[in-house]
Amino acid sequence: AAYGVAVAAAAAAALVIHRKMKKPGRWVKAMEILKEFEEKCGTPILKLRQVADAMIVEMHAGLASEGGSKLKMDEEGLFYALDLGGTNFRVLRVQLGGRTRGIVNQQFEEVSIPTSRMTGTSDALFDYVAATLAKFVAQEGSVFKPSPGRQRELGFTFSFPVVQSSIASGTLLKWTKGFSIDDTVGQDVVAELAKAMERRGLDMRIAALVNDTVGTLAGGRYNNNNVVASVILGTGSNAAYVECAHAIPKWHGLLPKSGQMVINMEWGNFRSSHLPLTEYDHALDAESLNPGEQIYEKVISGMYLGEIVRRVLCRMAEEAAFFGGTVPPKLKEPFVLGTPVMSSMHRDTSPDLKVVASNLKDILEISNTSLKMRKAIVELCNIVATRGARLSAAGVLAILKKMGRDTVKEGEKQKTAIAMDGGLYEHYTEYRNCFKDTLNELLGEEVSKTIMIEHSNDGSGIGAALLAASQSQYLELYES
Ligand code: BGC
Ligand code: MG
Repeated sequence: AAYGVAVAAAAAAALVIHRKMKKPGRWVKAMEILKEFEEKCGTPILKLRQVADAMIVEMHAGLASEGGSKLKMDEEGLFYALDLGGTNFRVLRVQLGGRTRGIVNQQFEEVSIPTSRMTGTSDALFDYVAATLAKFVAQEGSVFKPSPGRQRELGFTFSFPVVQSSIASGTLLKWTKGFSIDDTVGQDVVAELAKAMERRGLDMRIAALVNDTVGTLAGGRYNNNNVVASVILGTGSNAAYVECAHAIPKWHGLLPKSGQMVINMEWGNFRSSHLPLTEYDHALDAESLNPGEQIYEKVISGMYLGEIVRRVLCRMAEEAAFFGGTVPPKLKEPFVLGTPVMSSMHRDTSPDLKVVASNLKDILEISNTSLKMRKAIVELCNIVATRGARLSAAGVLAILKKMGRDTVKEGEKQKTAIAMDGGLYEHYTEYRNCFKDTLNELLGEEVSKTIMIEHSNDGSGIGAALLAASQSQYLELYES
Protein backbone atom coordinates (compact mmCIF):
# COMPACT_ATOMS: atom_id res chain seq x y z
CA ALA A 1 0.00 0.00 0.00
CA ALA A 2 2.86 2.32 0.87
CA TYR A 3 4.28 1.71 -2.55
CA GLY A 4 0.96 2.54 -4.15
CA VAL A 5 0.76 5.88 -2.36
CA ALA A 6 4.28 6.76 -3.38
CA VAL A 7 3.45 6.08 -7.00
CA ALA A 8 0.32 8.18 -6.82
CA ALA A 9 2.25 11.04 -5.24
CA ALA A 10 4.88 10.88 -7.95
CA ALA A 11 2.20 10.89 -10.61
CA ALA A 12 0.55 13.91 -9.05
CA ALA A 13 3.86 15.73 -8.88
CA ALA A 14 4.55 14.90 -12.51
CA LEU A 15 1.12 16.23 -13.46
CA VAL A 16 1.80 19.52 -11.71
CA ILE A 17 5.16 19.91 -13.45
CA HIS A 18 3.56 19.01 -16.75
CA ARG A 19 0.84 21.64 -16.29
CA LYS A 20 3.36 24.28 -15.39
CA MET A 21 5.39 23.61 -18.46
CA LYS A 22 2.44 23.51 -20.80
CA LYS A 23 0.58 26.58 -19.67
CA PRO A 24 2.20 29.75 -18.42
CA GLY A 25 0.66 30.91 -15.17
CA ARG A 26 -2.30 33.26 -15.16
CA TRP A 27 -0.17 36.13 -14.07
CA VAL A 28 2.40 35.63 -16.81
CA LYS A 29 -0.32 35.40 -19.43
CA ALA A 30 -2.06 38.54 -18.13
CA MET A 31 1.23 40.43 -18.24
CA GLU A 32 1.78 39.27 -21.80
CA ILE A 33 -1.56 40.76 -22.82
CA LEU A 34 -0.69 44.01 -21.09
CA LYS A 35 2.82 44.14 -22.58
CA GLU A 36 1.55 43.50 -26.09
CA PHE A 37 -1.04 46.25 -25.70
CA GLU A 38 1.62 48.66 -24.48
CA GLU A 39 3.82 47.93 -27.47
CA LYS A 40 1.01 48.55 -29.90
CA CYS A 41 0.19 51.85 -28.18
CA GLY A 42 3.69 53.17 -28.66
CA THR A 43 4.00 56.83 -29.61
CA PRO A 44 7.68 57.58 -30.22
CA ILE A 45 8.43 61.14 -31.30
CA LEU A 46 8.95 60.13 -34.91
CA LYS A 47 5.45 58.65 -35.04
CA LEU A 48 3.97 61.79 -33.51
CA ARG A 49 5.64 63.88 -36.21
CA GLN A 50 4.16 61.59 -38.86
CA VAL A 51 0.72 62.00 -37.29
CA ALA A 52 1.12 65.78 -37.28
CA ASP A 53 2.19 65.83 -40.92
CA ALA A 54 -0.70 63.61 -41.95
CA MET A 55 -3.03 66.00 -40.16
CA ILE A 56 -1.56 68.98 -42.00
CA VAL A 57 -2.33 67.26 -45.30
CA GLU A 58 -5.94 66.92 -44.14
CA MET A 59 -6.03 70.55 -43.07
CA HIS A 60 -5.05 71.66 -46.55
CA ALA A 61 -7.65 69.39 -48.07
CA GLY A 62 -10.42 70.49 -45.76
CA LEU A 63 -9.87 74.23 -45.83
CA ALA A 64 -13.04 76.12 -46.59
CA SER A 65 -15.34 73.20 -46.10
CA GLU A 66 -16.29 74.36 -42.64
CA GLY A 67 -17.80 77.56 -41.46
CA GLY A 68 -15.71 80.34 -40.08
CA SER A 69 -16.61 83.30 -37.99
CA LYS A 70 -15.40 86.83 -37.89
CA LEU A 71 -14.19 88.03 -34.55
CA LYS A 72 -15.27 91.46 -33.55
CA MET A 73 -15.98 92.02 -29.97
CA ASP A 74 -16.59 95.43 -28.58
CA GLU A 75 -20.32 95.23 -28.25
CA GLU A 76 -22.43 95.91 -25.19
CA GLY A 77 -25.69 94.74 -23.75
CA LEU A 78 -27.15 91.55 -22.34
CA PHE A 79 -26.59 88.38 -24.32
CA TYR A 80 -27.49 84.78 -23.75
CA ALA A 81 -25.67 81.62 -24.74
CA LEU A 82 -26.49 77.99 -24.79
CA ASP A 83 -23.80 75.35 -24.84
CA LEU A 84 -24.88 71.91 -26.03
CA GLY A 85 -22.21 69.39 -26.74
CA GLY A 86 -21.13 66.86 -24.19
CA THR A 87 -22.67 65.23 -21.22
CA ASN A 88 -23.64 68.52 -19.69
CA PHE A 89 -25.47 71.38 -21.16
CA ARG A 90 -25.18 74.96 -20.04
CA VAL A 91 -27.15 78.16 -20.29
CA LEU A 92 -25.45 81.50 -19.68
CA ARG A 93 -26.07 85.19 -19.66
CA VAL A 94 -23.40 87.80 -20.07
CA GLN A 95 -23.61 91.53 -19.59
CA LEU A 96 -21.13 93.21 -21.90
CA GLY A 97 -19.92 96.69 -21.15
CA GLY A 98 -18.29 97.53 -24.46
CA ARG A 99 -14.62 97.66 -25.39
CA THR A 100 -13.40 99.30 -22.22
CA ARG A 101 -15.43 97.49 -19.62
CA GLY A 102 -15.57 94.03 -21.12
CA ILE A 103 -17.64 91.41 -19.35
CA VAL A 104 -19.46 93.19 -16.54
CA ASN A 105 -21.44 90.28 -15.23
CA GLN A 106 -22.08 86.66 -16.01
CA GLN A 107 -24.16 83.82 -14.73
CA PHE A 108 -24.64 80.26 -15.81
CA GLU A 109 -26.44 77.09 -15.02
CA GLU A 110 -25.45 73.56 -15.92
CA VAL A 111 -27.76 70.60 -16.26
CA SER A 112 -27.12 67.11 -17.49
CA ILE A 113 -29.00 65.77 -20.45
CA PRO A 114 -31.02 62.65 -19.71
CA THR A 115 -29.68 59.76 -21.80
CA SER A 116 -33.14 59.16 -23.20
CA ARG A 117 -33.08 62.63 -24.80
CA MET A 118 -29.72 61.87 -26.44
CA THR A 119 -31.12 59.05 -28.52
CA GLY A 120 -34.83 59.88 -28.86
CA THR A 121 -36.38 62.38 -31.25
CA SER A 122 -35.19 65.79 -32.32
CA ASP A 123 -38.25 67.46 -30.79
CA ALA A 124 -37.68 65.73 -27.46
CA LEU A 125 -34.09 66.99 -27.26
CA PHE A 126 -34.79 70.55 -28.36
CA ASP A 127 -37.92 70.83 -26.20
CA TYR A 128 -35.77 69.93 -23.22
CA VAL A 129 -33.17 72.50 -24.22
CA ALA A 130 -35.78 75.22 -24.77
CA ALA A 131 -37.50 74.45 -21.47
CA THR A 132 -34.21 74.74 -19.54
CA LEU A 133 -33.40 77.99 -21.30
CA ALA A 134 -36.87 79.41 -20.63
CA LYS A 135 -36.54 78.66 -16.91
CA PHE A 136 -33.14 80.34 -16.82
CA VAL A 137 -34.39 83.45 -18.64
CA ALA A 138 -37.28 83.71 -16.20
CA GLN A 139 -34.73 84.07 -13.38
CA GLU A 140 -32.91 87.00 -14.96
CA GLY A 141 -33.42 89.29 -11.98
CA SER A 142 -32.45 92.91 -11.83
CA VAL A 143 -28.64 92.72 -11.93
CA PHE A 144 -28.78 92.08 -15.65
CA LYS A 145 -29.99 94.86 -17.89
CA PRO A 146 -31.77 93.92 -21.07
CA SER A 147 -32.16 96.92 -23.33
CA PRO A 148 -35.77 98.05 -23.26
CA GLY A 149 -37.79 97.21 -26.32
CA ARG A 150 -35.24 94.76 -27.64
CA GLN A 151 -35.60 91.13 -28.34
CA ARG A 152 -33.14 89.04 -26.35
CA GLU A 153 -30.35 87.49 -28.41
CA LEU A 154 -28.65 84.16 -28.06
CA GLY A 155 -25.41 82.52 -29.15
CA PHE A 156 -25.86 78.82 -29.69
CA THR A 157 -22.80 76.65 -29.09
CA PHE A 158 -23.54 73.36 -30.74
CA SER A 159 -20.56 71.03 -30.56
CA PHE A 160 -21.17 68.55 -33.32
CA PRO A 161 -20.12 68.53 -36.96
CA VAL A 162 -22.20 71.05 -38.86
CA VAL A 163 -22.01 72.47 -42.34
CA GLN A 164 -22.51 76.10 -41.59
CA SER A 165 -24.49 77.97 -44.22
CA SER A 166 -24.43 81.34 -42.46
CA ILE A 167 -23.54 82.73 -39.08
CA ALA A 168 -26.93 81.62 -37.75
CA SER A 169 -27.72 78.44 -39.61
CA GLY A 170 -26.10 75.10 -40.14
CA THR A 171 -26.96 71.56 -41.10
CA LEU A 172 -26.05 68.70 -38.81
CA LEU A 173 -23.77 66.27 -40.62
CA LYS A 174 -23.82 63.57 -37.95
CA TRP A 175 -23.97 63.15 -34.21
CA THR A 176 -20.93 62.18 -32.12
CA LYS A 177 -20.20 61.44 -28.44
CA GLY A 178 -23.13 59.18 -27.70
CA PHE A 179 -25.85 61.32 -29.27
CA SER A 180 -27.83 59.53 -31.93
CA ILE A 181 -31.05 61.11 -33.16
CA ASP A 182 -31.69 60.25 -36.76
CA ASP A 183 -34.27 62.89 -37.53
CA THR A 184 -31.92 65.78 -36.69
CA VAL A 185 -29.27 64.73 -39.20
CA GLY A 186 -29.54 66.88 -42.31
CA GLN A 187 -31.64 69.51 -40.49
CA ASP A 188 -30.76 73.11 -39.65
CA VAL A 189 -30.13 72.90 -35.91
CA VAL A 190 -30.88 76.60 -35.46
CA ALA A 191 -34.31 76.08 -37.00
CA GLU A 192 -34.84 73.05 -34.74
CA LEU A 193 -34.03 75.14 -31.68
CA ALA A 194 -36.08 78.10 -32.91
CA LYS A 195 -39.13 75.87 -33.37
CA ALA A 196 -38.75 74.43 -29.88
CA MET A 197 -38.43 77.95 -28.44
CA GLU A 198 -41.58 78.96 -30.23
CA ARG A 199 -43.45 75.91 -28.93
CA ARG A 200 -42.33 77.02 -25.49
CA GLY A 201 -43.35 80.63 -26.05
CA LEU A 202 -39.81 81.89 -25.58
CA ASP A 203 -39.14 85.04 -27.57
CA MET A 204 -35.46 85.16 -28.40
CA ARG A 205 -33.40 85.50 -31.55
CA ILE A 206 -30.62 83.03 -32.27
CA ALA A 207 -27.93 85.38 -33.52
CA ALA A 208 -25.02 82.96 -33.94
CA LEU A 209 -24.37 79.27 -34.27
CA VAL A 210 -20.95 78.36 -32.95
CA ASN A 211 -18.88 75.24 -32.43
CA ASP A 212 -17.37 75.00 -28.93
CA THR A 213 -13.86 75.31 -30.36
CA VAL A 214 -14.83 78.54 -32.10
CA GLY A 215 -16.49 79.84 -28.94
CA THR A 216 -13.42 78.95 -26.89
CA LEU A 217 -11.19 80.73 -29.36
CA ALA A 218 -13.40 83.81 -29.33
CA GLY A 219 -13.63 83.77 -25.53
CA GLY A 220 -9.88 83.28 -25.16
CA ARG A 221 -9.05 86.00 -27.63
CA TYR A 222 -11.33 88.46 -25.87
CA ASN A 223 -8.91 88.33 -22.92
CA ASN A 224 -5.66 87.72 -24.76
CA ASN A 225 -5.00 88.79 -28.30
CA ASN A 226 -2.24 86.18 -28.67
CA VAL A 227 -4.83 83.40 -28.70
CA VAL A 228 -4.83 81.97 -32.21
CA ALA A 229 -6.07 78.45 -31.63
CA SER A 230 -8.28 76.49 -29.29
CA VAL A 231 -8.43 72.85 -28.36
CA ILE A 232 -11.22 70.96 -26.65
CA LEU A 233 -10.24 67.83 -24.74
CA GLY A 234 -13.45 66.71 -23.13
CA THR A 235 -16.07 64.08 -23.84
CA GLY A 236 -15.13 64.64 -27.47
CA SER A 237 -12.20 66.46 -28.99
CA ASN A 238 -11.69 69.14 -31.59
CA ALA A 239 -9.64 72.23 -32.41
CA ALA A 240 -9.99 75.56 -34.18
CA TYR A 241 -7.43 78.11 -35.32
CA VAL A 242 -7.17 81.45 -37.05
CA GLU A 243 -6.38 81.15 -40.72
CA CYS A 244 -5.47 83.86 -43.22
CA ALA A 245 -8.17 84.27 -45.84
CA HIS A 246 -5.68 83.93 -48.70
CA ALA A 247 -4.87 80.40 -47.54
CA ILE A 248 -8.44 79.26 -48.07
CA PRO A 249 -8.65 78.38 -51.78
CA LYS A 250 -12.38 77.75 -51.87
CA TRP A 251 -13.12 81.21 -50.55
CA HIS A 252 -11.07 83.17 -53.04
CA GLY A 253 -13.13 86.09 -54.18
CA LEU A 254 -15.56 85.71 -51.30
CA LEU A 255 -13.41 87.30 -48.64
CA PRO A 256 -11.02 90.20 -48.54
CA LYS A 257 -7.56 88.66 -49.06
CA SER A 258 -6.24 90.28 -45.92
CA GLY A 259 -8.96 88.91 -43.66
CA GLN A 260 -8.66 86.25 -41.00
CA MET A 261 -11.14 83.49 -40.39
CA VAL A 262 -11.60 80.94 -37.67
CA ILE A 263 -11.43 77.40 -38.95
CA ASN A 264 -13.19 74.62 -37.10
CA MET A 265 -11.05 71.60 -37.89
CA GLU A 266 -13.32 68.79 -36.62
CA TRP A 267 -10.07 67.00 -35.90
CA GLY A 268 -11.90 64.24 -34.03
CA ASN A 269 -12.70 62.72 -37.39
CA PHE A 270 -9.02 62.59 -38.37
CA ARG A 271 -7.65 59.16 -39.16
CA SER A 272 -4.31 57.97 -40.44
CA SER A 273 -2.38 54.77 -40.82
CA HIS A 274 0.16 56.39 -38.50
CA LEU A 275 -2.25 56.26 -35.56
CA PRO A 276 -1.26 53.42 -33.24
CA LEU A 277 -4.56 51.54 -33.14
CA THR A 278 -5.03 48.19 -31.44
CA GLU A 279 -7.58 45.41 -31.73
CA TYR A 280 -9.35 46.96 -28.73
CA ASP A 281 -9.77 50.25 -30.60
CA HIS A 282 -11.12 48.49 -33.66
CA ALA A 283 -13.64 46.58 -31.56
CA LEU A 284 -14.68 49.73 -29.69
CA ASP A 285 -15.19 51.53 -32.98
CA ALA A 286 -17.13 48.68 -34.58
CA GLU A 287 -19.49 48.50 -31.60
CA SER A 288 -19.92 52.28 -31.23
CA LEU A 289 -22.90 54.39 -32.28
CA ASN A 290 -20.77 55.84 -35.09
CA PRO A 291 -18.59 53.07 -36.51
CA GLY A 292 -15.82 54.22 -38.82
CA GLU A 293 -16.17 57.83 -37.65
CA GLN A 294 -14.21 59.99 -35.20
CA ILE A 295 -11.24 57.63 -35.06
CA TYR A 296 -8.78 60.15 -33.56
CA GLU A 297 -11.44 61.20 -31.04
CA LYS A 298 -11.87 57.56 -30.02
CA VAL A 299 -8.23 57.29 -28.91
CA ILE A 300 -7.77 60.68 -27.29
CA SER A 301 -11.03 61.87 -25.74
CA GLY A 302 -12.79 61.41 -22.43
CA MET A 303 -15.76 59.45 -23.67
CA TYR A 304 -13.52 56.54 -24.68
CA LEU A 305 -10.38 56.26 -22.51
CA GLY A 306 -12.05 54.41 -19.64
CA GLU A 307 -13.83 52.16 -22.09
CA ILE A 308 -10.51 51.16 -23.69
CA VAL A 309 -9.17 50.27 -20.23
CA ARG A 310 -12.26 48.18 -19.59
CA ARG A 311 -11.80 46.28 -22.83
CA VAL A 312 -8.19 45.37 -22.07
CA LEU A 313 -9.10 44.33 -18.51
CA CYS A 314 -11.89 42.21 -19.89
CA ARG A 315 -9.46 40.38 -22.15
CA MET A 316 -7.09 39.84 -19.23
CA ALA A 317 -10.00 38.40 -17.24
CA GLU A 318 -11.22 36.18 -20.04
CA GLU A 319 -7.94 34.84 -21.32
CA ALA A 320 -5.72 34.95 -18.28
CA ALA A 321 -8.24 34.65 -15.45
CA PHE A 322 -6.83 37.89 -14.12
CA PHE A 323 -9.64 38.19 -11.58
CA GLY A 324 -9.84 34.47 -10.87
CA GLY A 325 -11.90 31.67 -12.38
CA THR A 326 -14.89 33.77 -13.48
CA VAL A 327 -15.00 37.01 -15.40
CA PRO A 328 -16.59 39.68 -13.19
CA PRO A 329 -20.01 40.30 -14.81
CA LYS A 330 -19.87 44.09 -14.37
CA LEU A 331 -16.66 44.23 -16.36
CA LYS A 332 -18.53 43.06 -19.43
CA GLU A 333 -20.80 46.14 -19.44
CA PRO A 334 -19.74 48.67 -22.08
CA PHE A 335 -18.89 52.11 -20.68
CA VAL A 336 -19.21 51.13 -16.98
CA LEU A 337 -15.67 52.28 -16.44
CA GLY A 338 -15.79 56.01 -17.06
CA THR A 339 -12.72 58.14 -17.63
CA PRO A 340 -13.18 59.99 -14.29
CA VAL A 341 -12.86 56.65 -12.49
CA MET A 342 -9.87 55.70 -14.60
CA SER A 343 -8.24 59.01 -13.75
CA SER A 344 -8.79 58.61 -10.02
CA MET A 345 -7.21 55.15 -10.14
CA HIS A 346 -4.32 56.45 -12.22
CA ARG A 347 -3.71 59.21 -9.69
CA ASP A 348 -3.73 56.87 -6.68
CA THR A 349 -0.46 57.30 -4.80
CA SER A 350 -1.41 55.56 -1.58
CA PRO A 351 1.11 52.78 -0.79
CA ASP A 352 -1.53 50.05 -0.94
CA LEU A 353 -3.46 51.63 -3.84
CA LYS A 354 -6.65 51.82 -1.85
CA VAL A 355 -8.37 54.18 -4.29
CA VAL A 356 -7.91 51.56 -6.99
CA ALA A 357 -9.27 48.90 -4.64
CA SER A 358 -12.34 50.92 -3.72
CA ASN A 359 -13.12 51.84 -7.31
CA LEU A 360 -12.81 48.23 -8.41
CA LYS A 361 -15.21 47.30 -5.65
CA ASP A 362 -17.74 50.11 -6.15
CA ILE A 363 -17.77 50.30 -9.93
CA LEU A 364 -16.87 46.82 -11.08
CA GLU A 365 -17.89 44.80 -8.00
CA ILE A 366 -14.44 43.24 -7.86
CA SER A 367 -12.90 42.67 -4.44
CA ASN A 368 -9.89 40.77 -3.14
CA THR A 369 -7.35 42.12 -5.57
CA SER A 370 -3.67 41.90 -4.72
CA LEU A 371 -1.42 44.94 -4.69
CA LYS A 372 0.41 43.49 -7.67
CA MET A 373 -2.85 43.36 -9.63
CA ARG A 374 -3.77 46.91 -8.69
CA LYS A 375 -0.35 48.08 -9.84
CA ALA A 376 -0.95 46.43 -13.20
CA ILE A 377 -4.28 48.25 -13.48
CA VAL A 378 -2.65 51.63 -12.77
CA GLU A 379 -0.09 50.79 -15.44
CA LEU A 380 -2.90 50.05 -17.89
CA CYS A 381 -4.52 53.43 -17.18
CA ASN A 382 -1.15 55.03 -17.75
CA ILE A 383 -0.69 53.36 -21.13
CA VAL A 384 -4.10 54.47 -22.39
CA ALA A 385 -3.82 58.04 -21.06
CA THR A 386 -0.27 58.45 -22.33
CA ARG A 387 -1.14 57.40 -25.85
CA GLY A 388 -4.13 59.80 -25.90
CA ALA A 389 -2.23 62.74 -24.45
CA ARG A 390 0.76 62.31 -26.76
CA LEU A 391 -1.43 62.00 -29.83
CA SER A 392 -3.37 65.12 -28.92
CA ALA A 393 -0.07 66.98 -28.55
CA ALA A 394 0.77 65.86 -32.09
CA GLY A 395 -2.48 67.51 -33.23
CA VAL A 396 -1.41 70.80 -31.65
CA LEU A 397 1.96 70.49 -33.36
CA ALA A 398 0.10 70.19 -36.68
CA ILE A 399 -1.76 73.45 -36.02
CA LEU A 400 1.39 75.31 -35.00
CA LYS A 401 3.21 74.02 -38.05
CA LYS A 402 0.36 74.99 -40.34
CA MET A 403 0.47 78.50 -38.88
CA GLY A 404 4.25 78.66 -39.13
CA ARG A 405 4.56 79.02 -35.40
CA ASP A 406 6.60 75.90 -34.72
CA THR A 407 9.86 77.76 -35.18
CA VAL A 408 11.27 80.97 -33.79
CA LYS A 409 12.45 83.43 -36.38
CA GLU A 410 15.48 85.60 -35.69
CA GLY A 411 14.63 88.73 -33.80
CA GLU A 412 10.94 87.92 -33.68
CA LYS A 413 9.10 88.14 -30.40
CA GLN A 414 5.85 86.55 -31.49
CA LYS A 415 3.87 84.90 -28.74
CA THR A 416 1.32 82.21 -29.44
CA ALA A 417 -1.44 81.31 -27.02
CA ILE A 418 -3.73 78.32 -27.26
CA ALA A 419 -7.00 78.27 -25.35
CA MET A 420 -7.75 74.85 -23.91
CA ASP A 421 -11.01 73.57 -22.49
CA GLY A 422 -12.85 70.37 -21.70
CA GLY A 423 -13.28 68.14 -18.68
CA LEU A 424 -10.52 65.74 -19.66
CA TYR A 425 -7.98 68.54 -19.84
CA GLU A 426 -9.32 70.17 -16.71
CA HIS A 427 -9.63 67.15 -14.43
CA TYR A 428 -7.23 64.46 -15.62
CA THR A 429 -3.94 65.81 -14.29
CA GLU A 430 -1.72 63.00 -15.60
CA TYR A 431 -3.19 63.42 -19.07
CA ARG A 432 -2.77 67.19 -19.01
CA ASN A 433 0.83 66.99 -17.82
CA CYS A 434 1.73 64.39 -20.40
CA PHE A 435 0.10 66.51 -23.12
CA LYS A 436 2.15 69.55 -22.11
CA ASP A 437 5.41 67.62 -21.72
CA THR A 438 4.99 66.01 -25.11
CA LEU A 439 4.26 69.33 -26.78
CA ASN A 440 7.44 70.77 -25.26
CA GLU A 441 9.34 67.72 -26.40
CA LEU A 442 8.02 68.13 -29.95
CA LEU A 443 8.70 71.85 -30.11
CA GLY A 444 12.01 72.03 -28.33
CA GLU A 445 12.91 74.37 -25.52
CA GLU A 446 13.31 77.59 -27.45
CA VAL A 447 9.98 77.42 -29.27
CA SER A 448 8.14 76.12 -26.21
CA LYS A 449 8.96 79.38 -24.46
CA THR A 450 6.88 81.28 -27.04
CA ILE A 451 3.81 79.04 -26.73
CA MET A 452 1.30 79.59 -23.98
CA ILE A 453 -1.22 76.92 -23.12
CA GLU A 454 -4.11 78.57 -21.30
CA HIS A 455 -7.06 76.98 -19.65
CA SER A 456 -10.04 78.98 -20.82
CA ASN A 457 -12.68 78.09 -18.33
CA ASP A 458 -16.16 78.34 -19.73
CA GLY A 459 -14.72 79.97 -22.81
CA SER A 460 -17.05 78.31 -25.25
CA GLY A 461 -20.21 79.63 -23.63
CA ILE A 462 -18.92 83.15 -23.18
CA GLY A 463 -17.46 83.09 -26.66
CA ALA A 464 -20.87 82.22 -28.04
CA ALA A 465 -22.40 85.18 -26.22
CA LEU A 466 -19.64 87.42 -27.60
CA LEU A 467 -20.24 86.16 -31.10
CA ALA A 468 -23.98 86.65 -30.68
CA ALA A 469 -23.22 90.21 -29.65
CA SER A 470 -21.08 90.75 -32.72
CA GLN A 471 -24.00 89.55 -34.82
CA SER A 472 -26.62 91.57 -33.00
CA GLN A 473 -29.46 92.91 -35.10
CA TYR A 474 -29.14 96.13 -33.10
CA LEU A 475 -25.50 96.64 -34.00
CA GLU A 476 -26.15 99.74 -36.12
CA LEU A 477 -27.32 101.48 -32.96
CA TYR A 478 -23.80 101.50 -31.54
CA GLU A 479 -22.06 102.19 -34.75
CA SER A 480 -24.05 105.21 -35.83
C1 BGC B 1 -17.52 67.22 -32.22
C2 BGC B 1 -16.96 68.61 -32.34
C3 BGC B 1 -16.72 69.20 -30.96
C4 BGC B 1 -15.90 68.26 -30.12
C5 BGC B 1 -15.64 68.80 -28.72
C6 BGC B 1 -16.68 66.38 -31.30
O1 BGC B 1 -17.28 65.13 -31.10
O2 BGC B 1 -17.59 66.60 -33.49
O3 BGC B 1 -17.81 69.45 -33.09
O4 BGC B 1 -16.07 70.44 -31.09
O5 BGC B 1 -16.53 67.01 -30.03
O6 BGC B 1 -16.81 69.05 -28.04
MG1 MG C 1 -18.22 71.63 -23.73
